[in-house]
Amino acid sequence: MKKALCLSAVLLASGAANAEGEAKWGYSGDKGPENWAALSPDNAICSGKNQSPINLTGFIEAELQPITFDYQKGGQEILNNGHTVQVNYASGSSIEVDGINFDLKQFHFHAPSENHIEGKSYPLEAHLVHASEEGDLAVVAVMFEEGEANEGLKQGWANMPEQAGDEHPLSEQASASALLPSDRDYYRFNGSLTTPPCTQGVRWLVMKQPLTASQEQIERFADVLHEPNNRSLQPVNARPVLQ
Ligand SMILES: [Zn+2]
Repeated sequence: MKKALCLSAVLLASGAANAEGEAKWGYSGDKGPENWAALSPDNAICSGKNQSPINLTGFIEAELQPITFDYQKGGQEILNNGHTVQVNYASGSSIEVDGINFDLKQFHFHAPSENHIEGKSYPLEAHLVHASEEGDLAVVAVMFEEGEANEGLKQGWANMPEQAGDEHPLSEQASASALLPSDRDYYRFNGSLTTPPCTQGVRWLVMKQPLTASQEQIERFADVLHEPNNRSLQPVNARPVLQ
C-alpha cells in the first residue's frame, strides 16, 4: 500500500508543494539535493547506495535484449510542477523488458542532463517513466544535443506551462515515439528516481543515440524552470553498467 501511494505521488507529480504552496524540496539551498534525505523520513533512501543519476562508464558487455516499444499517441496534458515540465500519458502505451510489461505514465525533462555518458553532460534529457502492475519502475532516458529543432517537442513547447502549477491540455495527443532515436541500442543499470522519494530498484534504460533539440527549445525549457533541474551525479558503488 505504501508503495502504491508513493508511486501515485511520483507518477502524477502531485505533492510537489505543501498546503501553503511552498515547495517541499528543490535543486538549491536548504531544500537542495544534499539535504533531500534529511527533509523527510519518506526520503531516507535518497542517501542509498543505488541512486541515480550516474556517469555511465566502464561498460560491461551483455547480451541486452531489445526493448519492445508499443507506444500509441497518448500525451494528454502538459504541466509545470515546479520541478520539471511533464506530459501525462493515457494508458495503453508500454514497453516490455525482462518479460514484464511496463505502462508509460508520463515523460518529463531535465536541463542539463542528469545522467552523463562517459563523462559527457548533455543540454537536455528526457525521462519516459513506466510502471508495471506490481509497481516496479522502468525509465527510458534520451539525451538531446543542440542542433535541429525536435518535432516531438513542438506541440508541448507551444503550450509550455510557464508558472509552477500551470497545466495545459494538448489539442492533439502527443506521441512519445517522437522522443525515441531510430537506433534503440541502450545502456542499462539499476538505479533510483532522481527526485524525492528517490525510490530504488528502478530499471534505467539509457538510449545510446542522442536526439537533437534547437537552442531555442533548450533555452525555452531552462527559462521556464528558472534553475537547473539536474540532481548531481551519485556514486556508482557496486553496480555494473551494461551495454
Ligand atoms: Zn526525471
